[in-house]
Amino acid sequence: MSKPDLRGMEMEEVELMLREMGEPAYRGRQVFQWVQARGETDFSQMSNLPTRLRERLAERGMITKLKVLQARQSRAGDTAKYLLEMPDEETVETVLMSYTGREARDRYTVCVSSQVGCAMGCRFCATGLSGWQRNLSAGEITGQVLTVQQLLRFNRPEANVTNVVFMGMGEPLLNYNEVVRAIRILNHPQGLNISMRRITVSTCGLVPEMRRLASEGMPVVLAVSLHAPSDRLRDQLVPVNRKYPLEELMAACRDYIRAVNRRVTFEYALISGINDTSDHARQLAGLLHGMLANVNVIPVNAVEEAGYSPPSPWRVKEFVAELKERGVEAVVREEKGSDIDAACGQLRRKRLR
Ligand code: SF4
Repeated sequence: MSKPDLRGMEMEEVELMLREMGEPAYRGRQVFQWVQARGETDFSQMSNLPTRLRERLAERGMITKLKVLQARQSRAGDTAKYLLEMPDEETVETVLMSYTGREARDRYTVCVSSQVGCAMGCRFCATGLSGWQRNLSAGEITGQVLTVQQLLRFNRPEANVTNVVFMGMGEPLLNYNEVVRAIRILNHPQGLNISMRRITVSTCGLVPEMRRLASEGMPVVLAVSLHAPSDRLRDQLVPVNRKYPLEELMAACRDYIRAVNRRVTFEYALISGINDTSDHARQLAGLLHGMLANVNVIPVNAVEEAGYSPPSPWRVKEFVAELKERGVEAVVREEKGSDIDAACGQLRRKRLR
């Protein structure tokens, strides 16, 4: 039987494990802190534990280590992309985005993957083109954040990961249990203590799982990959729309807003000649009318295989202005690090070719 991975265990579970080993509960807290706050992956280095206990822990459990296979830094220096290898040699991409010197507090956002590959088949997405291999465990998800935290601290010893977005490879809500478990661990005050309000879960629109998430009592930000304002177009760009069309999706979004009392973010990848006309802007505004929502308009990253390209910068600005005129909160979000293939799945895909 494989040993439990401490990177994927909640604090109460670590405490229980230590109690079963005949240790007091505070030992469980200490181990959890070593693993989740300090990112330690070697039991022998847990210096405030008795040596014999460290040995027993290594016999009973393990800590998943992720190997950094590739690291690329954007020219602007604000985005770093990592290709991480898991124990079974599968790889995922994780991105660190730094926002420094702009606000009172520097922001370091880690974009994590939740699956190896993805089965959803969104037409403009490099990950979708590679297919699905497997779900990640909670320990492999928290492991991405902990690995990046250590890399970040290497250059900036005082810096902490402040935000986590589930926008890397995979559809997080198709790996529901492990994703929710990872969120609870990342949020724990004895671990990285990342506020629920600084954690974003992105979905392409799995309605039943969105409703389940609304009932968890976890006020995470929900980001919905919308990309089209009509069923006819969305059926083509985001195939899951055929199962959960816009009317059902929007009803689930409204219910989420009511349940967690916060706005929903809609991602809209703007694609030249496909979804970027004034008519699309008008339809989108109609769809979101009266909703507590904001739209991130993202000029699509050119994905060679899919044959899509972004509109001109002025058309992007105009599209946003057209939404704003109709009372919809909208901003342009340039894909950070497009010079290092920071769109999801691109680095891994290049390596596979
Ligand atoms: S956009 Fe997200 S959900 Fe769609 S195929 Fe890509 S990784 Fe999967």
